[in-house]
Amino acid sequence: MAEQTSFTCVSCPIGCVLEVQLNDAHEVEKVTGHGCNRGLDYAKQEAVDPRRNISAVVMVAGALEPLSVKTAEPIPKNRIFDVMEEIRALRLQAPVQAGQVLIEDAAETGISIIATKSI
Ligand code: SF4
Repeated sequence: MAEQTSFTCVSCPIGCVLEVQLNDAHEVEKVTGHGCNRGLDYAKQEAVDPRRNISAVVMVAGALEPLSVKTAEPIPKNRIFDVMEEIRALRLQAPVQAGQVLIEDAAETGISIIATKSI
């Protein structure tokens, strides 16, 4: 059955309210309410495959301060818990370089977790 969903665009501070119509196959049929093409792309993605960037901090043996880490690309929203579990299980040893891949294919999403700084 066709369905309609509505959410706020978070791609810029204007916050357009996006209306997305989906067909029976859960594909995007029509988008309204977007003020620009960036919002159109966001609406198409968010309606069928919502994704988020996540970041966290982890302790590193041999370092005095925690290390901030993040996803290299947005991950599917429904996999955030699994990815956070893998980040929590990380056991790192200094030195770590900014951009270093700490987890490849986190929670089988195909997306890496990387260090955001050198420590
Ligand atoms: S649709 Fe465009 S103008 Fe509207 S909030 Fe999104 S990015 Fe901003």
